[in-house]
Amino acid sequence: MNNDETSSGKPVRHLLGLSGGKDSSALAIYLRDRVPEMEYFFADTGAELPETLEYIDMLEDYLGKRIVRLNPNRSFEYYLKLNGNFLPTVKTRWCTAELKIRPFEEYVGEDTAITYVGIRADEPRRMGYLSTKSNISARYPFIEDGIGKQDVIDILESAGLGLPQYYEWRNRSGCYFCFFQQKEEWLGLAERHPDLFEKAKSYEQFHKDAGRSQTWSQGEYLEDLVARADEIREKAKERKENKKKAANKKLIDKFSQENNDEEDDGCLICTL
Ligand code: SF4
Repeated sequence: MNNDETSSGKPVRHLLGLSGGKDSSALAIYLRDRVPEMEYFFADTGAELPETLEYIDMLEDYLGKRIVRLNPNRSFEYYLKLNGNFLPTVKTRWCTAELKIRPFEEYVGEDTAITYVGIRADEPRRMGYLSTKSNISARYPFIEDGIGKQDVIDILESAGLGLPQYYEWRNRSGCYFCFFQQKEEWLGLAERHPDLFEKAKSYEQFHKDAGRSQTWSQGEYLEDLVARADEIREKAKERKENKKKAANKKLIDKFSQENNDEEDDGCLICTL
């Protein structure tokens, strides 16, 4: 299958998009020798965490193959202006379309291609964008082979990479200002990267000055979120403890996994 040719005689391209997240990274390692013609790429939004960029460099060394960096045609600021300065949200996710999907589709062009996606066998299908172009199809090797979360961690450990460093304070890769972040993760950004936190705050200011409420985190400005850091941390701690208790009860655990997986609300191309 890997050597399939299209009717035009051109070989099918095999592509694996890295986000700097654990699942796509583990998939790249898992498939390195299984699909030797794999092309690796990383759609860099220009707003990535420094830890993500470092991890991609490390992965590139491990794979021994170039990871093509795809850059959007224009900056986030350009598209922000184009969207009337309205911040992207879960419902109006223009950022993914412009900063991730479009550069990817331009990279593939009209070639017939298979993209390999790192959704695990033990997680519910994640919502998000995948290309809808008919020349691009997707494969899910972890689902096909029954690879779960612990297997992914083992793959990364045995490659000597371990988890990306941002997992100490954040559950997913993606832009530093990503609106999918939980409130506790915003606090992590404020602590680890105060400069990026300030920059994220500055995008809210435009609307604040105009008397409108447009915020990254639901229901409050970042400066208000930071002001109630203790309360947010306390609640996050409670949630984790409750989750742990629930995990001890098999049925509740199952419910928890199906309905409350902290990782299931990013978008595929940004966070896997
Ligand atoms: S990581 Fe978040 S902010 Fe960045 S492109 Fe993806 S959805 Fe948008």
